Amino acid sequence: MKLPMTGGCLCGAVRYEISARPVRMVNCHCRSCQKCSGSAYLALLFVPDSALKVAGSYREHPTIAASGNTVYRAFCTQCGTPLFGRNSAFTQLRPVVAMTLDDPGLYHPELDMWVADAQPWDTMNPDLPKYPGNFW
Ligand SMILES: [Zn+2]
Ligand SMILES: [Zn+2]
Repeated sequence: MKLPMTGGCLCGAVRYEISARPVRMVNCHCRSCQKCSGSAYLALLFVPDSALKVAGSYREHPTIAASGNTVYRAFCTQCGTPLFGRNSAFTQLRPVVAMTLDDPGLYHPELDMWVADAQPWDTMNPDLPKYPGNFW
């Protein structure tokens, strides 16, 4: 994998760089990911916090996760693209929305999580490990 990986929002106002290999690549089927993406799941890269560098204006929207932790999801203030997040309890890892990479082909899903929330029409790769909730 060539580093850094680069990405950004739909309008280009927010750009980011990831300077380390992702620790995990995860399809999250939770209701919050469904709502904020408008889709069946979010493809997420979990990267070390120190490896994520962001330029541009974004707004964080806090929600209380099923775990009781606060998840802050960052959206571009101009175009609303969901970009990345942070969890109040796991500050060392940051989820980044894989579809905002300049080359989303770099994403290779390793597992499905929150499959208990998945919609019946959400087709998953049967070969990937499945977790009813969080994978950790
Ligand atoms: Zn934007
Ligand atoms: Zn989720």
